[in-house]
Amino acid sequence: MRKSIERIAGESEGASYEFPLFRLAGTDKAAPSAYLQAALHAGELPGVVAIDLLMPMLIKAEAEDRVKGDITIVPWANPIGRAQYHFGEHQGRFHLGSRANFNRGFPLLASPDPALLPNTTLGSADQRLKTRLLQLSLGHDIVLDLHCDDEGLAYLYVHTSLWPAMADCAAALGVGAVVLWSEDTDGTFEGASVMPYQNAPADVAKLDRRVVTTVEYRGILDVDGTLARADADGLYRLLVARGTVVDPDLPAPGPFTGVVAPLENIDMMPSPRAGAVLYNVKPGDRVARGDRLATIIHAPGETDGHTEVFAPQDGIILTRRSRRIIRAGEDLLKLVGGRKSADARSGTLED
Ligand SMILES: [Zn+2]
Repeated sequence: MRKSIERIAGESEGASYEFPLFRLAGTDKAAPSAYLQAALHAGELPGVVAIDLLMPMLIKAEAEDRVKGDITIVPWANPIGRAQYHFGEHQGRFHLGSRANFNRGFPLLASPDPALLPNTTLGSADQRLKTRLLQLSLGHDIVLDLHCDDEGLAYLYVHTSLWPAMADCAAALGVGAVVLWSEDTDGTFEGASVMPYQNAPADVAKLDRRVVTTVEYRGILDVDGTLARADADGLYRLLVARGTVVDPDLPAPGPFTGVVAPLENIDMMPSPRAGAVLYNVKPGDRVARGDRLATIIHAPGETDGHTEVFAPQDGIILTRRSRRIIRAGEDLLKLVGGRKSADARSGTLED
């Protein structure tokens, strides 16, 4: 495993950013290559601690000549967000200098050709970071972007063109749900990693063996040694299942038994009032249409000071907020149902 340091120029003299990059050289050029990054939203750390435990497994595999495909790892993909504190609170989701979400605005290339990447020399630092991350990942058969939600099940976003071919990956990672999406106009990292292949010739696109996903490793507070161990084992299982790493002792993943639903089946449940949220459900709960999901206390102690929110359809609770203060119109949770949601939001994954 070789370590190098990537440098991203800042926006003023004397300011720049660094992140480490690790590469393992595979011994079989025909084997699938893999790119893993974590903490693009810089405070989302379950993937960071999973990679911490995965890397020794890969180093061992390399020493035993079992790494077949090239592997590139960026354990902490966002040094700009990592350094952002605002009044003492970490802010890793949006670039404070431009208000841009760190997982939006990636270049959506017409084909997987690095020559099409924009010149961001005169752009903002976050644009330079995004261009570099995409450049590093382009050409890999397996691209994993490790995130987490507020509070949630482990789940994947997957483009419809890669499903059900990626069911083995969902099983290997042990996630509870897969959300399928079909178009990305906002330039998520996942979108920028899969859209260039949609119009490519079949021998370049290789959609039957391509793996691109945003992995949502549960909630922001689920940074935990036991979960990290399970997640590292899951990532390793995926790499073995796809032939990037060889491990004859590891059984193939079984069938995926979790929930699979299109993005349009997710009810986001905007809060009707501002106030304190009392949740009646937690991630993983199954609900029936009409079940109470949450109570918003907007006028404590007053008659009519509570507003209840009910499930619009049968389904499973995928996520909920980690904070309990909410504004009117902010989403309370994600409910995955069996049919299109009343407030279905088109397009991009909601990471
Ligand atoms: Zn994220």
